[in-house]
Amino acid sequence: MEKYYCDTCLLKQDTSVLKAKKTFTHKNKTIEIEANERVCNVCHEVVYDEKLDEKMLSLAIHEYNKIYGLLGEDIISFRKKYKLSQQLFSNLLGIAKKTLISYEKEYVIPEESNASLLKLVVKDPSTLMTLSNDKHIPLEEKHIDQLSVSYVGDNKTEKENKELIKNIILFFTQYETSMTNLMKGFFYLDFSYFKRYQKSYTGMTYFKYEYGPFTTSLYQYVDELVKEGKMEKKTIDYKDTMQSLYKSNVAVDNLLVFGEIDHLLDNIHKFIEENNAEIVSELSHQEDAWLKTAMYEPISYQFSKTLKYDFTENK
Ligand SMILES: [Zn+2]
Repeated sequence: MEKYYCDTCLLKQDTSVLKAKKTFTHKNKTIEIEANERVCNVCHEVVYDEKLDEKMLSLAIHEYNKIYGLLGEDIISFRKKYKLSQQLFSNLLGIAKKTLISYEKEYVIPEESNASLLKLVVKDPSTLMTLSNDKHIPLEEKHIDQLSVSYVGDNKTEKENKELIKNIILFFTQYETSMTNLMKGFFYLDFSYFKRYQKSYTGMTYFKYEYGPFTTSLYQYVDELVKEGKMEKKTIDYKDTMQSLYKSNVAVDNLLVFGEIDHLLDNIHKFIEENNAEIVSELSHQEDAWLKTAMYEPISYQFSKTLKYDFTENK
């Protein structure tokens, strides 16, 4: 039993530590915690104990963050995942470094506007690219690599976008189209879109292959469409090799299926329709995306920045 000064008895008394339910209110949000407090053994009133008081406060902040916001540990693990220093991350968020530290250590409850921004960034890491562009704070390759590998368009995975991708295939193959052109069409779709919106359109990952950027999923989707009777496959002799041409049996109305997206789909469709496979391949080989990636490695979406042929422009 420890003697503490009791404000009610006005003298040092024997005290005990008891569990108590406490209610805190912050910005009209109420939380309840169970914490220890010191009580006078004589009058049973609460006695001030600095250490217990601090503990109670940090419990309250933690509980508040858990229910209404972000935990300090969430901020830390996000920052580590994207290899962001406290300095860089706080610059991107537009807050002081010591403020960020106080959120990470849960010394204070984040200000509402900062909490909203932090939640948004953690939910959609591509926001980092937007902040970087808006504030002219360049991200290094290590951050962007991390972003482009883990991020897919509109928070949808390639699987979730499967129907959309199949519709685009049908749209791109309204005239006979080779797999090379189809593949490059998707590459330019995703990288042009990423350049403008910091998001991949389809969420597909592309790899560097001999003939240019390559994505395995397209073969699977094309096969499915042929099996479903929505597409014809024709094999022809082309310069001593066999080439497959694909043609859609289904009319796809661009506006109806996709909405109007800066003429992006129209532009790419025209491009792969009007140019033969050699020209389309050659163009894709001039892109940093192809030049600066090692053979059979995934191509980072960071290369959309230097894309030579940006099809989001209205032509
Ligand atoms: Zn007392």
